[in-house]
Amino acid sequence: MPADEFSLIARYFSAFGAGPAVALGVGDDCAILALEPGERLATSVDTVVAGVHFPPDSLPEDVGYRAVAAAASDLAAMGARPLGMTLALTLPDADELWLHSFSQGVGAAASALALPLVGGDTTRGPLTVSVQVFGALPAGKALLRAGAQVGDAVYVSGTLGDAAGGLAVLEGRYRPEPEAAEYLEQRFFRPLPRLQLGMLLLDDAHAAIDISDGLLADAGHIAAASGVGIRLDAGRLPLSPALASHPDRDQALRWALAGGDDYELCFCLPPAATAPADCTRVGEVLAGGGVVCPGFDDLAGGYSHF
Ligand code: ADP
Ligand code: MG
Repeated sequence: MPADEFSLIARYFSAFGAGPAVALGVGDDCAILALEPGERLATSVDTVVAGVHFPPDSLPEDVGYRAVAAAASDLAAMGARPLGMTLALTLPDADELWLHSFSQGVGAAASALALPLVGGDTTRGPLTVSVQVFGALPAGKALLRAGAQVGDAVYVSGTLGDAAGGLAVLEGRYRPEPEAAEYLEQRFFRPLPRLQLGMLLLDDAHAAIDISDGLLADAGHIAAASGVGIRLDAGRLPLSPALASHPDRDQALRWALAGGDDYELCFCLPPAATAPADCTRVGEVLAGGGVVCPGFDDLAGGYSHF
């Protein structure tokens, strides 16, 4: 980066570092995060690249918010309590307008998700944003992909397909009423990782994953890790009013099944368990392997980078 990397960090990335677990934040060689006795550290990193993970003309504020929210979703999927995050930023140039807006998005997500920004790295190159998140798990507990049992009910949180619908709006492939368009775009740019739900599920769920690649693909990861099959019922998929207003219901369901980027949770509960608030039962765990969704056999699962 330019000579003045340090003043950029001081100006844009030093103000979001306060939190109960932060013993030492931005400015030294490492940050220090405090765990409670009996806790273990959960960590994950996610990278977003301009033009691959978001349209190149996205508002920098949205890019920042979404990068943090997507990374935080992995903590939700494990049931971890958020402690903090670091940010590795590669920039083509020190565009201060861009940095200002981007840092506003990072800061908004840091405070909304209780993930103080405690460090990072700043370099020059093609625009790339990596967010590493840190969370705490009670020793011996975690929501894993493995553990689903035959007979379990499969649930999802919130509504599915909105982010894919939002991307279609952004790319001009779908033109709903302005209010619905706005809602779907927001769902793409401002996902709400289910951190509270993840922590709530720690004691009861047999398996869980966050839906980043689409329900079919991500339920497929649970099935593979658990050595079971999953049957989804497309008729039960929760759709937002904005998505349900799509004239082609089949397209809406396809986004819900295979669209990705929703950052909701998919999880398996014993059949007698009651559904947590804002969650919908969408299928069940069977003996065998793989994921089936009658009527949608043709949908290839997920996004693959290579
Ligand atoms: P080092 O040479 O030890 O890697 P750096 O010069 O990369 O240190 O960074 C100086 C300080 O600024 C470190 O505390 C680092 O964590 C922090 N930092 C660097 N880039 C960012 C960023 N984009 N966001 C938050 N903190 C950052
Ligand atoms: Mg460094």
